This record gives sequence, C-alpha cells and structure tokens, in this order.
Amino acid sequence: MENILNLIGMRFGRLVVVDKVDNDEHGHNRYLCKCDCGNEKIIRGSSLKNGNTKSCGCYQKEISSSRKPSGAIHYMSNTKLYSVWSNMKYRCYDIKNREYKRYGMRGIIICNEWKNDFISFYNWAINNGYQDNLTIDRKDNDGNYEPNNCRWITNQEQCNNKRNNRLITINGQTKNLAEWSKISGINRDTLIGRINRNWNDPLIKVK
Ligand SMILES: [Zn+2]
Repeated sequence: MENILNLIGMRFGRLVVVDKVDNDEHGHNRYLCKCDCGNEKIIRGSSLKNGNTKSCGCYQKEISSSRKPSGAIHYMSNTKLYSVWSNMKYRCYDIKNREYKRYGMRGIIICNEWKNDFISFYNWAINNGYQDNLTIDRKDNDGNYEPNNCRWITNQEQCNNKRNNRLITINGQTKNLAEWSKISGINRDTLIGRINRNWNDPLIKVK
C-alpha cells in the first residue's frame, strides 16, 4: 500500500502538497496542492510522482500565451523562493546589507538573466531540484550566482561549507579552514576544535 503521508510538504514543480483528500471514484490517492501562483488544486498522487502535473495549469497557460505572468509574480512575492531571490540581490548589491562585505564587496555578482527577471531564476530553481527546505549554494565560493555555479543544498550542508570557508588568521596569514587543513594535514574537525580552545590566543584571529 502506498504511504499516504509521505507526499505532504513535498514540492513537485510549482506545487506543494498540503493535504491528503478522499480518493477519486477509481480509488486513486489524491492530494490538495497549493500552486506558487496562489491557486489550490486537487491532484492524483501518481500524476505528481511521475511528473505529469507540475502546476495548477498556470504553467501551460503561460507557455501557450507566451507572455510574462505578471499576475503570478504578485502572488509569488509571498513565497520562500522569492525571498531567496531578493536576499541574494541584497547581499550582492545593497551596500547597507550586513552580508554585503562577504558578497558584493568581494565582487560576487548575479548573472543578468536572474538579476533582472525573477521568473527566469524561478524556472531554473524549479527545474533544478528546488525544495522549500533547501538553500542556494555557490559551488565555487569565489564564483557568481549563475546557473553553472549554483545548486540547492540543505542548511546542514550550507553550515559545513560556511564553516570551511571561515577565514582564520594565524601568525598574520589569512586562509580559510579548508586551506589550513590542507596545509597542516590536520583534519578540519580537529583543527576547528583546537582553534576554538585557543580562541583568545593573540596569534589566532577567526573572522
Ligand atoms: Zn498555478
């Protein structure tokens, strides 16, 4: 028997599964789904899982009318993905943002396609494994926000990356944890443990 709870909370394209509803007349499992455009729709579990249904129907409408879904953007400004997009822009272009020094000031930019068009970023995200619990990651920490350099990872993976990219100054030399680990041959966890124990050593500065 199909596990009826396992789809709730999952994302399929533009749809996020909200609840299980009654089976249809053929006994197929059905779910109430909320689309990013704001519509709700009841959809068969099998259509979600095999990828046949990825929106309430708004995607097909956009394709056939081939114009920008301006109404949809209004609804989507409340989604998590929209805030991912705006926060990315603040980090790179708003000098008052507290993360700016680690992004914009280091020359990290957003490709024009994404920067100027939320829908373009949105479509890339939906087609590249975006889930609401994931966070955007640049594979190369010195690279830009662009399709080739970005992927969706969990918060835990993001924390590990951040930790490895933390800048540490020892005896006046500044490198990130991964580099110090490579140079010293000491495992990252051991190294961070030692640094944490000696955080008040004047020779060690952790940014
Ligand atoms: Zn929709």
